[in-house]
Amino acid sequence: MTKVLRLGHRAGRDDRISTHVGLTARQWGADEIVFAGERDVNMLESQRDIIHRWGGKTEVRYTEEWKEEIRDFEGLKVHLTMYGEKIDDKIDQLEEEIEDRNLLVVVGAEKVPRWVYKNVDYNISVGNQPHSEIAALAVFLDRVKGLKEDFEDADIEVEPSQDRKLTRKKQK
Ligand code: SAM
Repeated sequence: MTKVLRLGHRAGRDDRISTHVGLTARQWGADEIVFAGERDVNMLESQRDIIHRWGGKTEVRYTEEWKEEIRDFEGLKVHLTMYGEKIDDKIDQLEEEIEDRNLLVVVGAEKVPRWVYKNVDYNISVGNQPHSEIAALAVFLDRVKGLKEDFEDADIEVEPSQDRKLTRKKQK
């Protein structure tokens, strides 16, 4: 089971980024995406709507209790941050530790509280330069999990081709 916790969502300002964090998490196989920060019903609903149309069972929800999400998680807890240890230096250890265990990946928006650094198993950087939670999440999940290709019960599905018209509607 893979869960992604997105901290510090700011309604309005972070809508597109948070939506893309969710879609990225889903594409790389997250079972659950939890948003913390400002409660933003529209952003959550738009993600659920996309998941409904494109399939899969990814759960999307909001929490005020983000510390509990981290503290109570049973499995390996990884926080992605530009200040963390380099992914290339830790990848073998991470792969070994993730095998057969639940995985929690935490990404931020604005400054992440020091508490998070102290209450995860790993603080991992995807390069030690500032960039984006979307990029960091995609690279990290691609390294440790890989792309998910099958999404059950989709209304629409792309047939890979050179022609974008070859999108077809499935019967439910
Ligand atoms: N100073 C922040 C930090 O701690 O990484 C950068 C804020 S950045 C706008 C928002 C989020 O993107 C961060 O909380 C982190 O999860 C992710 N992020 C940005 N750069 C990263 C990097 N080089 N490696 C891993 N994660 C990164």
